[in-house]
Amino acid sequence: IAAGAEMVMKAFQDEFAAAGLENATVQNRCKLHKVGCRGFCAKDVLVDISVDGEVSTYQFIQEDMVKRLVREHVVGGKPIREWMAGDDYHVFHDNQTKVILHDLGKINPESIDDYIGVEGYTAAKKALMTMTAEEVVNEVKNSGLRGRGGGGFPTGLKWSLCAANEADQRYVICNADEGDPGAFMDRSMVEGNPHAVIEGMIITAYAIGATRGYVYIRAEYPLAVQRLRIALDQARERGFLGEKLFGTSFEFDIKIKLGAGAFVCGEETALIASIEGERGMPRAKPPFPANKGLWGKPTIINNVETLANLPPIINKGAEWFASIGSEKSKGTKVIALTGKIRNTGLIEIPMGMPLKDIIFKIGGGIEGDKLFKAVQTGGPSGGCIPQQFIDLPVDYEGLKSVGSMMGSGGMVVLDETDCMVNIAKFFLTFTQEESCGKCVPCRIGTKRLLEILTRITEGKGKKGDIELLQELAEDVRDSSLCGLGMSAPNPVISTIKYFRHEYEAHINRKK
Ligand code: SF4
Repeated sequence: IAAGAEMVMKAFQDEFAAAGLENATVQNRCKLHKVGCRGFCAKDVLVDISVDGEVSTYQFIQEDMVKRLVREHVVGGKPIREWMAGDDYHVFHDNQTKVILHDLGKINPESIDDYIGVEGYTAAKKALMTMTAEEVVNEVKNSGLRGRGGGGFPTGLKWSLCAANEADQRYVICNADEGDPGAFMDRSMVEGNPHAVIEGMIITAYAIGATRGYVYIRAEYPLAVQRLRIALDQARERGFLGEKLFGTSFEFDIKIKLGAGAFVCGEETALIASIEGERGMPRAKPPFPANKGLWGKPTIINNVETLANLPPIINKGAEWFASIGSEKSKGTKVIALTGKIRNTGLIEIPMGMPLKDIIFKIGGGIEGDKLFKAVQTGGPSGGCIPQQFIDLPVDYEGLKSVGSMMGSGGMVVLDETDCMVNIAKFFLTFTQEESCGKCVPCRIGTKRLLEILTRITEGKGKKGDIELLQELAEDVRDSSLCGLGMSAPNPVISTIKYFRHEYEAHINRKK
């Protein structure tokens, strides 16, 4: 949309009308089909023209190019070669493994029939009609699926802990409160295929015996919210939500709760407090939400990507899912690839893919042929991975081994011109502003860390500042109450570890 997709769509509608292509004789040839995110943001606006089954993909399309496309290709049957996507478009897609992004960019997210046309809701139907709740839990356990929101906790195990609680009510919450700088995985998923997320929630609800669900989504995602509302209404109309789902006795429905944009509300207990109408602040765990969550009832919170993985797991089986990925990290990971990279976009890789394949094959290398310097993974809570680890397998274990983390899947690529102290400062500025202030180490500690970083970058750094930063960062990490504070120092710790000479250069520089 930012690149002009809506204007391109309107131009096609106008051209079709002007050329009389909407009449019955050529109706099939001239159908316009709106889709969600296709992943390759760097090439937007992307348009496929399909004539008699032959598909041509065009890139960088603007509204003033539409007249010629219609005249020469749609009507004349002659593709315009110089506007078509090149080899890099196909390399970008061919090196990915698309499990949950498979239908993104193919189906109309506002059409439940499009989703049903790609086997949508067959997994929920299969689970409810042919499997016991315990069998569903075991299938997910055996698949090896781990939470994609950052923690990487085994999803099936979390479900079984929740289901084991005696309770008159349980809840399912979809965490769509994505807020990391550079992250757009969950937004794109909800915008591009909202029914997949709803179907994942139905499967979860059945597995743990919940009858009520919430999608906690930030209000800054208006298109995602709009499409989710449309999808929920459509699912209700078809009997996929509400009472007697798929003709069984099972009942489940979903409400949307809009978040006001606080990063900390992505933390489970803060998110629950926010839904309950309290200020969105974390509390100490245990008790864990799986035992005592929303309104004090057992609650499962899974993020968008985790939920979207469930329909293919139920349809294709745990063994199929476990065959993708690495030994301890099964399946795929959706990554928002941004920064100094040629092919900015939304990608899905098998867990364990080497970092170099992401950067140089799918990503097409560094912009302007500069040298690759580092990559920041896991958003503001992650760490910077330097060039020397270019062969690192990207999975939970691999990233942790070099002091970073998967987080929710943001990946910001940095080149030789980036100052790593400034990068650490950028991310710490974000987490410091987003600190809820409840506990001292995070509230005061991140402020002091930022002060030290600021004076270093302004050329006022002093001898001993690096040691002070290191000590304070470790204290904040070890004594904060929630994940935000525990992980906020990661960019500082990892940049001191791998790029200490840049801190020293700042400090030794004359003012
Ligand atoms: Fe709030 Fe930070 Fe403490 Fe988390 S660590 S509770 S965000 S002050």
